[in-house]
Amino acid sequence: MARVALVTGGTRGIGGAISRALKAAGYNVAASYAGNDAAAEKFKAETGIPVYKWDVASFDACAGGIKQVEADLGPIEVLVNNAGITKDGAFHKMTLEQWSAVININLGSLFNMTRPVIEGMRARKFGRIINISSINGQKGQFGQVNYSAAKAGDIGFTKALALENAKNGITVNAICPGYINTEMVQAVPKDVIEKNILPQIPVTRLGEPDEIARAVIFLAADDAGFITGSTLSINGGQYQA
Ligand code: NDP
Repeated sequence: MARVALVTGGTRGIGGAISRALKAAGYNVAASYAGNDAAAEKFKAETGIPVYKWDVASFDACAGGIKQVEADLGPIEVLVNNAGITKDGAFHKMTLEQWSAVININLGSLFNMTRPVIEGMRARKFGRIINISSINGQKGQFGQVNYSAAKAGDIGFTKALALENAKNGITVNAICPGYINTEMVQAVPKDVIEKNILPQIPVTRLGEPDEIARAVIFLAADDAGFITGSTLSINGGQYQA
């Protein structure tokens, strides 16, 4: 039987590539998203992967969404916590709304999504939880105190949860992408990418979403059971953590 995988923010960008790669690797995949119905419908039509809309910042919405996915596909065995946002600004001008939204969506979501699935994984003695953190959670980033704090929190969450569940056949790992060619990075002005960002990247280009997806496939595999609590940097050599 194909294992069931759920990817949050799985309809576009890095998450879209992860969903497609999991399907190609034989998983029974569900993808969640926040509100971009057009992108979700396009993705569903192209891939045949079912899509589900809920806000990962809401515990009740996550619990309800997960219940629906499990009713449709079966118990979730692979959870990819990928959904994320940025709301950048210098800290001395940052609003509580900018702080809270980024913390709740990038870090709170790991509790909201993982708590409802962990007991089932423990009972079944198998689980793969893969959290998409960021290079900016490893090194900090100007204008991103909120995002850096949330993404660093994702790494702490990963390490502690890995310890608690290591005996239960569950692995928990984090991936820290560098600059990846998605709408999140395409929102940065082109000249800033060329003049400021590319010179920081030793391989001299942005990463592609598929280059994150292939690491997810590696970590999700049944024979990856000895890899847990790890943080995998995928950043073109930009930061060697
Ligand atoms: P995109 O902005 O391209 O896609 C984000 C996805 O997350 C969308 O599917 C979006 O849904 C979903 N999403 C956003 N907010 C919520 C929410 N509240 N509830 C549910 N789903 C939500 O992002 P990327 O693909 O670039 O990033 C994916 C992950 O990788 C994020 O965690 C990001 O922080 C991380 N990352 C990205 C890097 C990059 O360079 N791109 C670098 C390092 C880390 P919808 O389509 O409905 O809006």
